Amino acid sequence: MREIALYIHVPFCIQKCRYCDFVSYPYLQPESISDYFKVLTQELQIRTENDKLQNVVLKSIYFGGGTPSLVSPEILNDFLLLLRQNFRFSESIEITVEANPGTLNSKKIREFAHLGVNRLSIGIQSFQNRFLSFLGRAYREKEVHNLLTELIDTGLFLNWSFDLMYGLPFQTFSDWKKEMEHLLMYQPPHFSLYNLTLSHQVPLRIFLKKHLALFPGQDWEASIYRWTQQILRKYGYRRYEISNFAKPGYECLHNLTYWRNQEYLGLGVSSSSYLGGIRMRNASTLSHYQKRIKNCQSPVVTKDILNLKQKLAEEMILALRTSEGVETEKLFKTYPESLVQEKLIQLEDFAQSHFIHEREGRWILTSRGTLIANQLFLEILD
Ligand code: SF4
Repeated sequence: MREIALYIHVPFCIQKCRYCDFVSYPYLQPESISDYFKVLTQELQIRTENDKLQNVVLKSIYFGGGTPSLVSPEILNDFLLLLRQNFRFSESIEITVEANPGTLNSKKIREFAHLGVNRLSIGIQSFQNRFLSFLGRAYREKEVHNLLTELIDTGLFLNWSFDLMYGLPFQTFSDWKKEMEHLLMYQPPHFSLYNLTLSHQVPLRIFLKKHLALFPGQDWEASIYRWTQQILRKYGYRRYEISNFAKPGYECLHNLTYWRNQEYLGLGVSSSSYLGGIRMRNASTLSHYQKRIKNCQSPVVTKDILNLKQKLAEEMILALRTSEGVETEKLFKTYPESLVQEKLIQLEDFAQSHFIHEREGRWILTSRGTLIANQLFLEILD
């Protein structure tokens, strides 16, 4: 049976964070969400037909954003029912909702759990007000603690995660230690750690240009990353992807689908899909997305059919992100020998510089390689 993952993008937020380049819009009225879900329902019908998905089994559903925790339990319930009518759910299906503090309370946590949501991923970014305010987050430290306390008190979610961000202006080692103390106080089963990256379009980019010296810089970030890994290991966390840590058994099934280069369908504005070896992307603005659906058109605006060389490079990059690494035997089974040999020479070069190592037929990034992973990936793509 063909199993796929499903991503649903919910592009509404209380306010736009100053570093955000995701597709998200200010949440002005509840109707914007209910209208959006009506359009999603239409997209589901169009895509099921166009992409021949009538017989697939869903292994994970991920409501990402944006701030999906703004969605009411009633709307979520209707949409999950619709999904059940269209697809089979695997017995061990993982259903994640991304949430932000200030948009979820114990009542809603209970309602989400009742609907079958079994994983929450909370965008915290920092436990300290001055960083939250600098980033333009819509909540403060008190709301973070309230949400985590309520989540733990309900006892309904065994599987949950939160994100923290490092590399912020004025951030010192002692600031980061405080973040880690909070992390270890709550000990989420899963945890993501990102450094602040600013694309050209975001307001904080102007600040970065003017005040570069206020940012702690790459060396500081590298030492923080190494230190954090050591601490987390002592508490039973395993880094299973460059930015993701989990206690055993709590790795995110949905994200593993991406890194294992397996199939997924993305619904909603700007979502990506990977089906039958084709990468697809939906219209990237809400108005364009809605217009296409209202005209009964597919929202997919780009389709890339990868050749074998591109597929191989992508598969290697995705696998190198994870602690599973690249399995040599699998490459030889899937791709022409000459292409694989060419790439293995590249991996051997990386190994000579101690950026990766080979263990039991798998190539895995070393800690050193993790810090320059993006450069290595560009070379693999070349
Ligand atoms: S909450 Fe997330 S998606 Fe929304 S504006 Fe902030 S960073 Fe962007």
